Amino acid sequence: MHDLIIVGGGPAGLSAALAARRYQLDCLILERGVIGETVYHFPIARPLFSTSNEVELEAGALPQDRKPTREEVLAHYTRLVIREQLDVHTGEAVEAITCIGEGFAVRTPAQVYHSRAVLVATGGFGRQRKLDVAGECPERVSYQFSEAHPFATKRVLVAGGGNSAAEAALFLLDAGAHVTLAIRRCALDAPSSMNAAKIKPWVRQPLERAQAAGRLDIFTSSEVVEILPVSALLQVAEAGTPRLVHVPCEHIFALIGADPDVRLLEEAGAEIAADGRPVYSDEFETTLPGLFVAGHLTRELHMKKAIEVGSVVVKYITERLLEPVAVL
Ligand SMILES: Cc1cc2nc3c(=O)[nH]c(=O)nc-3n(C[C@H](O)[C@H](O)[C@H](O)COP(=O)(O)OP(=O)(O)OC[C@H]3O[C@@H](n4cnc5c(N)ncnc54)[C@H](O)[C@@H]3O)c2cc1C
Repeated sequence: MHDLIIVGGGPAGLSAALAARRYQLDCLILERGVIGETVYHFPIARPLFSTSNEVELEAGALPQDRKPTREEVLAHYTRLVIREQLDVHTGEAVEAITCIGEGFAVRTPAQVYHSRAVLVATGGFGRQRKLDVAGECPERVSYQFSEAHPFATKRVLVAGGGNSAAEAALFLLDAGAHVTLAIRRCALDAPSSMNAAKIKPWVRQPLERAQAAGRLDIFTSSEVVEILPVSALLQVAEAGTPRLVHVPCEHIFALIGADPDVRLLEEAGAEIAADGRPVYSDEFETTLPGLFVAGHLTRELHMKKAIEVGSVVVKYITERLLEPVAVL
């Protein structure tokens, strides 16, 4: 029987695991992909939006004079896992969590593990939003952007009004692609109807310059309504009158966000709120005692908070559920 099983090896899960190590808990981390799987899918060799102090798990581990790259963050997380000998099983997805007496059974395809408490930190990207239009298929549409080079000289449509879409459009432009950006907002700096953050000024301004120089087409108040073999059909409602526009494109990036997958929690018996995220207390305990949540799965959307909460939750779990021990 483990003291704690953490589901998910992202910033929240890893921060919690480091805290568990300090509290001398017997802790197992189950990660369906690689260490920091979500960060692994960030654009290759690009700086993050955040500064080092917001994403590092140990103060001063990342460059302090500039924003860290995806590679630096991944190397930092991995080095810590190895140095602290965290028990991380990568490539092992949790399929079910069942409350049994005083603890939990956690099932993966490999084994059933037992623990006194479970922390679910599976992130906010479990269910990718799709365009839901005719012609949408994996050959034509990608939902994550990691690299621009394969699209050099190609015509690419980027659909999405958030920072990820805006940044992808910029990287594709830099790599020599012919880019069209289609956003639902009425302007790049307008608030979004999908709760996405406003586009950061350091991403928006170069996009506006590229548009002014005729290197980028931007359709505002627009929506993809059909995907055809070498184009996409947009419905554009600029100035209130809808019109259909054919945008020639070899590929489409639909970077329109994602929602957390809460099925593990729901099937375990934890209550899910109307916004599709779990109900939890100030201590991040779900309605099922002993089952906790942290990170992007909750209403904390950024890495800084995911990291802060991960360790706070473990302190609470240790004090509430387990025998207090001397902290290392
Ligand atoms: C392109 C892009 C850029 C971003 N840039 C920034 C940035 O600069 N700064 C910032 O603060 N935020 C950024 N974000 C948001 C950031 O990714 C999240 O805030 C952060 O990853 C949340 O950490 P987390 O540990 O809660 O979740 P995640 O990092 O998503 O980790 C969840 C982990 O759980 C694993 N998992 C899921 N289901 C299971 C299962 N059933 N069994 C086992 N494991 C499972 C996943 O594989 C994943 O590794 C960005 C997001 C994107 C898409």
